[in-house]
Amino acid sequence: MRCEHCDIIPLTEFSDPDDYMMSVETFLMMIKAGVLETVYENHPLELVYTGHVGDKVKFFHQFRCRKCGTIYGMFVNTMSGGEIKINEKVFDPDEYGSDIPGGVVH
Ligand SMILES: [Zn+2]
Repeated sequence: MRCEHCDIIPLTEFSDPDDYMMSVETFLMMIKAGVLETVYENHPLELVYTGHVGDKVKFFHQFRCRKCGTIYGMFVNTMSGGEIKINEKVFDPDEYGSDIPGGVVH
């Protein structure tokens, strides 16, 4: 259940890198506005936005709405596309055995 603060977040798939960057920008703005907090990232979102990603192609970020607690997951493989969807809980690499490199849990 989303609230009025976070229901503007599009739950969508994207194949165009420009769409991904627009979503990154939206999340950055919502974090700065205090609506969302980052709860997981495998690479700092601001560095993704500025293109400082090294040779990584897979990025996963999770954000929690500070009002309603809804967790949004944004995954992208910059070679093939990605998606934004609601996640049930914060990602735990130990639990899932992820192949996402460089994961850092907050
Ligand atoms: Zn919310």
